[in-house]
This record gives sequence, structure tokens and C-alpha cells, in this order.
Amino acid sequence: MKIAVLPGDGIGTEIVAEAVRVLNVLELPLELEQAPVGGAAYAALGHPLPESTLKLAQAADAVLFGAVGDWKYDTLERSLRPEQAILGLRKHLGLFANFRPAICYPQLTHASSLKPELVAGLDILIIRELTGDIYFGQPRGRRTAVDGHFPGAEEAFDTMRYSRPEIERIAHVAFQAARQRGKKVTSVDKANVLETFQFWKDVVTEVHAQYPDVALEHMYVDNAAMQLVKAPKKFDVIVTGNMFGDILSDEASMLTGSIGMLPSASLNAKNQGLYEPSHGSAPDIAGQGIANPLATILSAAMMLRFSLQQPEAADRVENAVRAVLAAGYRTPDIWSEGTHKVGTREMGDAVVAAITGKTITKS
Ligand code: NAD
Repeated sequence: MKIAVLPGDGIGTEIVAEAVRVLNVLELPLELEQAPVGGAAYAALGHPLPESTLKLAQAADAVLFGAVGDWKYDTLERSLRPEQAILGLRKHLGLFANFRPAICYPQLTHASSLKPELVAGLDILIIRELTGDIYFGQPRGRRTAVDGHFPGAEEAFDTMRYSRPEIERIAHVAFQAARQRGKKVTSVDKANVLETFQFWKDVVTEVHAQYPDVALEHMYVDNAAMQLVKAPKKFDVIVTGNMFGDILSDEASMLTGSIGMLPSASLNAKNQGLYEPSHGSAPDIAGQGIANPLATILSAAMMLRFSLQQPEAADRVENAVRAVLAAGYRTPDIWSEGTHKVGTREMGDAVVAAITGKTITKS
């Protein structure tokens, strides 16, 4: 099982190092190979996604990714900015399904901006279509308006579009994921206003006929945004398009309190995947050894489950994370009075100790 390890920039190197340590103690036949990506790759090789890194990712069963981006690269032309590496990997690997679980661990309910009773036990999965929609639809651009409210004025435009196969494959992914969980899918659309999303709704309904054991509900995106903060526990799996998914998955991530706890996976049709924390490179805390590595460690667990078919190993990692939280270990982003504040490395140590069955000692 080959894993391309791409730590990237900022805290990426610190948190990926801990996830790699966790993978190494599982005693699985894993082959890990590291390569630069993002700003680090631009600095070393002149491109955020060098050919050698892309080749490594394409040949691997899975990619473990840290984060990319640094303010010092913000003045580079767009095609050379670190963030282009993620878009390039998504495109070249055909990663069309983005999985973003939002789980609220019992010990961290205080970190949520919602009342504890609304989020305690929260476990939802947002599946976002990642390669279509208005983000990639052509044509797009700027021009002089020939009609509309201000003919003759300068205007910009994008194109929202989804083809039947694009909707069908993401719908299958959602129904299959729901089968492993609470057996309920909420398909989020804006069918009342947008042609594209009336089509989305129709196709999802058709695919649903193949999954009689899974319940399907349709919800408009504005209502979904509201329900996520009103009664988030009523959701199980949410499936939606690229733009709505972008917004709703960030909203859902905040329900859990800390972005440092949230893993993500992006999969292609062959179950090859890119696994990364939901957060960015956090340049404000990079190099201080205080970043929370748990989102990356949990991303590695998702990798074991979805791309490497090692569900037992995935369970071991996830149970170890639960155990360290129960034992009171907290990085500063999730720390509260009465718990034990640790840095990135100590948190990694604690997870490794929990996996190997050693007593978790507070240093
Ligand atoms: P960010 O997610 O990097 O940071 C937002 C806030 O959360 C910061 O205060 C940061 O310190 C904190 N934070 C993030 N991860 C944390 C962790 N593991 N532990 C503790 N605290 C954590 O978002 P940003 O500041 O908007 O962006 C910083 C850079 O990251 C930018 O260059 C941006 O483009 C890039 N970015 C990359 C990705 C990615 O690689 N997938 C995603 C988002 C942003």
C-alpha cells in the first residue's frame, strides 16, 4: 500500500509528521514516500505541484496531505500560488467526491458556538461534489453586457452546470456512505430557482430507487444552512454540489468547535484518495509546535478506511483519539480549564501510546 506524503507549508510539516508516526506504529505493510507541495515546492522546484510530486501522487493508493499556503506567496501570479497544488491534484486524480465528517466529541462540546445539547453526539457527513458546478463551468469571464439591467456596462459571469453522470456518481457515493451509517441522505439543492438543481434533484431521486434501504429527503440550501445551526443532529449524510458544499461544510465544521479536529477525504472512482485536515496551513502558529495534529491523524484514519481497506486499523486510530481526549489531552485550540495542555508532538505521543496500549502519561 503506497502512500504519497505531501506535508506542504506552515503547520503542514508539523501535523503530518505526527500522522506518519501514528501510521508507522500500526505495523501495516505501508510504503510512505514524501514529496514537496505548495509553497515549499515552489521554493525548491519553482512550481507548487512539480511533475515529480504529481507522478508520486498518481502512482500511490492514497495521498496524505498537510496544508499549503503562506502569506509570503500571495503576490505570486495565480498559477504559481501554493493553493493551485490542491486544485491540480483534484483535477489530475479526478477527485470528485469530498467527504467532510463533522463529529462533536463529548469532551469538546464546550468549544462549539452552539449550546452543548444541540451538538453533543453530533456525527454528520457532508459529501460535496468537487469537480463540477459553477466553480468549473464554462463559459466564464468579463465582458460588456448586451442585455440585463445595465446593457453596455462591464459585467462578469460564471456558468452553473451539472451533467447526469456527474450527479449520478456523487449520488451513488452518498447512498453507499449512508448505508454504512444512519441510512439517511439529505440532498441539498436550490431547485426552486435553479434549472441545474432541479435536474440535480430529479437525478438524485432516480438513483435513490436503487437504495430502498436508505431514506432520502430533499432540502433547499437556505433551509439546510438554517437547520445546521438549529438542529444539526437531524442530519446523517448531506450530499450537495460544489458551491453549496463548500459553504455548508465550513458551517458544519464550526458546530464542532475546532477546525483542528476535522479530517477530510477526496476520492475518485477508483477509491484513490487525498486525505487532509479541513484547515489551512495556519501561518500564524507555524513553527511553534502548538498546532493540533488530530485532524490530520483522523484524516489518516479515513485513508485507512476508504482507500486502503483497513477498517480495523482505522478504528484503532479513531479510538486512540477518543482515548486521548478522554484522558484530558488538549492542544491550545481545544484547551479548557482543568484539562492538560500539550503541544503537537506530545499529542502525537499520546495517540501513539494509546494505539500501542501503553499507559497515556501526562508529561
Ligand atoms: P487556516 O485554517 O490556516 O487558519 C485559520 C485559524 O485556525 C488560524 O487562527 C489558525 O491558527 C487556526 N488553525 C488552523 N489549523 C489549526 C490547527 N491544526 N491547530 C490549531 N489551530 C489551527 O486558514 P487561513 O488563516 O485562512 O489560511 C492560512 C493559509 O492556509 C492561506 O494561505 C490559505 O490559502 C491556506 N489554506 C490552505 C488550505 C489547504 O491547504 N487545504 C485550506 C484553507 C486555507
